[in-house]
Amino acid sequence: MKKLLILGAGTAGTMMANKLSRNLNKSIWEITIVDKDENHFYQPGFLFIPFGIYRPEDVVRSKREFLPKGVNFIIQNIEKIEPENNRVLLSNGEILDYDILVAATGTVPVPEETEGLKGSYGIRYF
Ligand SMILES: Cc1cc2nc3c(=O)[nH]c(=O)nc-3n(C[C@H](O)[C@H](O)[C@H](O)COP(=O)(O)OP(=O)(O)OC[C@H]3O[C@@H](n4cnc5c(N)ncnc54)[C@H](O)[C@@H]3O)c2cc1C
Repeated sequence: MKKLLILGAGTAGTMMANKLSRNLNKSIWEITIVDKDENHFYQPGFLFIPFGIYRPEDVVRSKREFLPKGVNFIIQNIEKIEPENNRVLLSNGEILDYDILVAATGTVPVPEETEGLKGSYGIRYF
């Protein structure tokens, strides 16, 4: 079997899993997707919580609900990608080999890395 490995079961990773599972020959390809969290947070919905339009529980669903049958879902932190060995290391020590890798781990805001975005520089009174 050839192995397709998707890192991140957020918006992009979930779309890839659905699209590729429909289009790849299942007798040739095994699809695995990894994410550190079981739950999906519908981020655009966050904006409506302060106004009472959504409640916090309205924007949380299990990621499994959005993954097609036959796709392996591993809940674990991704530690390291080794492209030279076509493999990914997980925090529990598990090693995943792949033929094709899709990296869809998204972005994380790190305001402290930009001077002025956090702390006393953030607010100026004139
Ligand atoms: C408040 C808010 C409002 C938004 N509103 C809109 C909107 O109106 N319209 C719109 O189009 N977009 C909106 N967005 C943006 C949209 O949510 C993102 O663009 C989209 O989720 C990005 O998808 P992604 O798959 O790249 O990343 P994500 O959906 O963030 O998925 C990345 C996944 O990778 C996993 N991951 C990361 N690192 C690791 C690791 N080391 N090990 C294991 N798993 C890992 C994460 O757990 C996550 O599930 C909004 C975002 C926010 C925060």
